[in-house]
Amino acid sequence: MTIFFELLEKKIGLARIGRIILSKKNKDFIHTPNFLVPINQNLTKNANFNEEFESHRIFITSKKKLLSENFIRVKFKNSAVIYSHKGLITGFIEVLDRKKSFFFENNVIPVIPFNVPNISISKEFSINQINCYLNIAEEILKKNQNINFIFTIKIFNHPELFDLYIAIVKKYENIKVLNFSDLFDNLKNFRNIIKVIIKAKLELDNNIVLMASGRIITKLYPMLIYLGFDLIDSSYILYKSSEGFYDTIEYLLPTYKINFLPCSCVVCRGELKNILKDKYSTEKINLLCLHNLITAKNYANKINQYLKYEDFRDFVEKSSLNDAKLISILKILDKEFYFSLKNETPITQENKTINCLGALSYFRPDFQIFREMVIDTFTPEPETQLIIILPCSSKKPYSDSKSHKKFATAIRKYPDFPNFQEIIITSPLGAIPRQLENVYPVNSYDISVTGFWDEEELAIASKMLVKILDKYNQEIPIICHLEGGYVEIVEKAQKKLNRKFYFSQINNKITSIESLNSLETLIRTYKDEYSAKLDIKTAKTLSKSWHRKLLKLLDYQFGIDSATKVFSNGLLIKEKKDKNQIKIIDPITKDILGFFKYSSGQIALSMKGAEKLVPYEHSKFLVFNGEKITGNTLFRPGILEYSNNLFPNDYVLILDNTKQNLIGLGQMIVGSDFLRNSKTGRIAKVYENK
Ligand SMILES: [Zn+2]
Repeated sequence: MTIFFELLEKKIGLARIGRIILSKKNKDFIHTPNFLVPINQNLTKNANFNEEFESHRIFITSKKKLLSENFIRVKFKNSAVIYSHKGLITGFIEVLDRKKSFFFENNVIPVIPFNVPNISISKEFSINQINCYLNIAEEILKKNQNINFIFTIKIFNHPELFDLYIAIVKKYENIKVLNFSDLFDNLKNFRNIIKVIIKAKLELDNNIVLMASGRIITKLYPMLIYLGFDLIDSSYILYKSSEGFYDTIEYLLPTYKINFLPCSCVVCRGELKNILKDKYSTEKINLLCLHNLITAKNYANKINQYLKYEDFRDFVEKSSLNDAKLISILKILDKEFYFSLKNETPITQENKTINCLGALSYFRPDFQIFREMVIDTFTPEPETQLIIILPCSSKKPYSDSKSHKKFATAIRKYPDFPNFQEIIITSPLGAIPRQLENVYPVNSYDISVTGFWDEEELAIASKMLVKILDKYNQEIPIICHLEGGYVEIVEKAQKKLNRKFYFSQINNKITSIESLNSLETLIRTYKDEYSAKLDIKTAKTLSKSWHRKLLKLLDYQFGIDSATKVFSNGLLIKEKKDKNQIKIIDPITKDILGFFKYSSGQIALSMKGAEKLVPYEHSKFLVFNGEKITGNTLFRPGILEYSNNLFPNDYVLILDNTKQNLIGLGQMIVGSDFLRNSKTGRIAKVYENK
């Protein structure tokens, strides 16, 4: 089996960065996601087009003439060309038979065409069409096993018809790309779109490249990439250009409406403005084609930039606002398909501000993962004698904000403050135990704070607060130092709980001396009401805030009780000079147990630290097919077993094939879903081994 695609980085949702391998030997790769630039005789004769796209790497054409040897070899010698035959499949077979070796030698990838009208008479008729196509396609695939093919999928508005294709895609390894040619023709059926994509992810090898074609307009690009598409065919732009439409991304505008050209590409700077209002002008159509393709190219570049270096979800949300149907896709994905997709989303992002723009951000998969993991892994410290509920701050971590510094001064007046559990209420994340304030996304989200909370925000925060408070003894008093919407959240939670809540008096501002005095008085009054049963050994280790944080963080990463095992002798911490990380040391053996990294808010354990996590299978692990790891990357064929809760970017233990010995430590590139659905590919980066 030849490897055609390699996944390099997993991003939020189904988005991914990868590469198509043209030649491993020559290190010749095409970056994905990428968009396919259409070529025809008109365009390739245009000097501006050639200049604009000379460094582009992947094109699509349906023109047999352009497949002439000289043309491809000279003009596109550094690129791949996708040949999408228009017309009957018999014609395609003829071309294929003639050009087979030429295709093979010159990076021409043929699409097995499925050219019937998209409007079908009935479902039965569509099924017949598909079966006919499958029969001929199978013959082609069988006969040409050394050629990589793009396989066309049409569902005729019936998502269940996708099932008909599955067996053949699984059977033929020379199907390297799935070309969804009518999936986006009717965006109103957004549920169909999602169903088909999820099915493809769950049933087929995830190394198959996904390609979107058909009625694809530029404003769909960010969503297509969020949905996991690697290649986008932009040919439809030519058709819209011929109809006289000018692309501004937000809109496709008929040229008669345009008075202000919002672009200064070679076309818009030049002749286009003079002939915008001309009717039936071939020159205008040619210029529109070029402007529209340049617009698509610029947008694709912007998307790739954001996908790699910014919080991509932010951009997907913003661009969804261009079309109500895109908003629906995002909402349905978040709310109805979260469980099918959650292991696709990285658990952390480093050095990024996560902008929450409104209701569309509330159920981002990484936010849902965070809430779920806090509820699953956070356990009360046994010495807790008082719970204090505080509002969030815009500065992160909260402890560094002016307001939280003032709260801390009030709370730390009491020497028993390490026995107080602080919980911070925030939108849209929910309720955050103080110990987890440095973890992603708590360390990096930003939201407009106005004091107005909508119903959904109130519900998210109160629900999470109830789940956390439920973990504590009912007799522990709860002090709330809150105002406005925050009070509403607690009141909502109060209705679900049978517990004692005490509210401080807020005078003018929550940080005013009077308000803080009221908080102090409440603490003084109630701190001794409940006496915790103390374990002397743990009481010692919990004396410092950072100790408390690292314990809870380790449980968050590796599961309940992980901290008890790794820090069985307690812990010492040492901040590195550059303040990028904290070194965690065993106070008795002096071994380095791991490093806390500020950028990700996670602990990278050392071998000494991770060795204490026995039995390893209760943790996050990969079982390696061997006794010793060589190199710094683990690939899919080397993995025998894995835990089913792995996220991209998760830290993971690497075990030998007996599962008894820890042989290395890594950070995941993909999640468990990819492991389940792939035979090849990079799985984890190894950062330490035996
Ligand atoms: Zn332009």
